[in-house]
Amino acid sequence: MAQRHVVVLGSGGSGLTAAVAAHDSGARVSVFEKHHQIGGTTAWSGGLVWIPNNHHEQALGVADSREEALTYLMALSNDMIDPSLAEAFLDAGPVMVRYLEDNTPVRFRPIPGFPDYHAEHPGGKPDGGRALDCPLYPFTELGDWADRITRSPYFQDPRISICDTPLGQVEPRPFDFEEIARRGEADERGNGQALIGRLMRACLERGIEPRTSCRALELLTEDGRVAGVRIETPEGEITERADAVILATGGFEWNEDFKRAFLRGPMTHPVSIATNTGDGLKMAMKAGAMLGNMREAWWMPVVEVPTEEVSTGLSLVAGQRSLPRSIMVNRKAQRFVNEATNYNAFGPAFHEQDANAFDYRNLPCWLIFDQGYVDLYGFGMMGGVPGEPPPQWVTRAPTLAALAERIGVEAGALEATVQRWNQQVAAGRDEDFGRGEAAHDIWWGDAARRGGPEATLGPLDRGPYFAVEIKSGALGTKGGPRVDQNANVLDLDGQPIPGLYAAGNVMSSPLGMTYGGPGGTISCALVFGFLAGWDAGGQPLLPLREAAAP
Ligand SMILES: Cc1cc2nc3c(=O)[nH]c(=O)nc-3n(C[C@H](O)[C@H](O)[C@H](O)COP(=O)(O)OP(=O)(O)OC[C@H]3O[C@@H](n4cnc5c(N)ncnc54)[C@H](O)[C@@H]3O)c2cc1C
Repeated sequence: MAQRHVVVLGSGGSGLTAAVAAHDSGARVSVFEKHHQIGGTTAWSGGLVWIPNNHHEQALGVADSREEALTYLMALSNDMIDPSLAEAFLDAGPVMVRYLEDNTPVRFRPIPGFPDYHAEHPGGKPDGGRALDCPLYPFTELGDWADRITRSPYFQDPRISICDTPLGQVEPRPFDFEEIARRGEADERGNGQALIGRLMRACLERGIEPRTSCRALELLTEDGRVAGVRIETPEGEITERADAVILATGGFEWNEDFKRAFLRGPMTHPVSIATNTGDGLKMAMKAGAMLGNMREAWWMPVVEVPTEEVSTGLSLVAGQRSLPRSIMVNRKAQRFVNEATNYNAFGPAFHEQDANAFDYRNLPCWLIFDQGYVDLYGFGMMGGVPGEPPPQWVTRAPTLAALAERIGVEAGALEATVQRWNQQVAAGRDEDFGRGEAAHDIWWGDAARRGGPEATLGPLDRGPYFAVEIKSGALGTKGGPRVDQNANVLDLDGQPIPGLYAAGNVMSSPLGMTYGGPGGTISCALVFGFLAGWDAGGQPLLPLREAAAP
């Protein structure tokens, strides 16, 4: 059989994994990337990957199984998860981890203790095991490509990985500054940089060099199959013929029309790379793809910050709202959610509507904290320095009443909300929203108090008081063309469109509205990229699956 030519569009985690797999499946591979640098949002990320039943988890002694993981996902489905896709994800995940480790520089290490995001549901893991981190990687191994990988505006010091922070440790330990300095000299980078660096090295070893500043525009279809793609390059438009095209172009979170058309509620502040404008979705629709999961995104509370602080002018609000001595309130100055719940679960809270007022009940909303919080934790988007005053853009006032006036909510209502919160804290239980009852809340709270709800419960009783407005954001969207168990895009009749594949945030997510655990989005990107690459390259994945069965 003649060697197949596979074209991969996009160079994030899904695209590079697809490229490696397609090559190893026998194909000649070309990668085209719209941005002038490679890596996509994946290179900006924490690089965590959530793979149930992986072999590192087994080595840790955590009992897990495909069945348990499937039970967990389906318990969170709300009828949004296609069980066959969840099964494909769970079957291929451990195979992918082992394959990449055995055949490429990609390595993973488990993060003991990091709980699933809904660990109390059947099949959930409150003591962790499913989350993997990608160890640091020396970018000196990448030659000229070291400078061609997009740097994260959010994790500004690439030498520090999540495993160096309390979030990545069972027993938080002091920072090893000498080690951090050594990493700097060796240009060793962690998080998403490490994952993309390692995947890129795997590509280079296979002779695959992505072409950057190349935006795919339209698929070429012939006799009912996808036969290539039209691409805008710096040298002009080209048509690249191919036996298969893999869409790995990320979500549509930067496309206002698509967001208005598809999302179930406001998402004003995406934090992904701005080249993710739904190009892959458009191409798939034109090729006749059936769509799925369109209303969903990987939701994330976000705050606007000065661009001198973070170049995007945005920052994710994750751990900050789980710390004691902070609450969130809506326009009525009322709490509306377990503030320490996982970020993705904020989507439904932000989209809740008041039927009478006909507006979004919980937007706008604010994170409120007190001087006690500042003394203990400081307040910074990248982690605060205890005792250091919050940046100037944070609203502050000596009393709760004055703070209410400054943010435009009713003073008496805010005082009453804080009074009730403080009473609940004193009683050790958040009767209203159950904050501190889930393993997730405790893990993300104050690591020094990790034993129980005190990790996240604490009064607001020491002025001055502070407020920051929280926006409805997302890491990316998760709706798009539906795929089968090989990541082959399906048409309106449920039949595979020959030659067309999708992986990562461009596709209809196998996880529905759920975020299973730390690394939940990149896991889907890597696993479906892996499946797409193998199938597009022409070799069945089945023998690999059998060989890697735990
Ligand atoms: C700060 C931060 C931390 C995060 N941490 C984690 C984490 O630890 N674990 C986790 O699971 N998730 C995390 N996420 C989310 C995660 O990074 C993304 O959901 C995931 O990386 C998406 O992968 P992808 O391959 O689908 O898309 P991307 O990595 O965004 O790649 C898509 C690529 O396609 C390119 N592209 C777009 N259109 C075209 C076109 N027409 N032609 C060619 N190329 C095109 C884009 O330029 C981009 O490079 C985080 C996100 C952020 C912002």
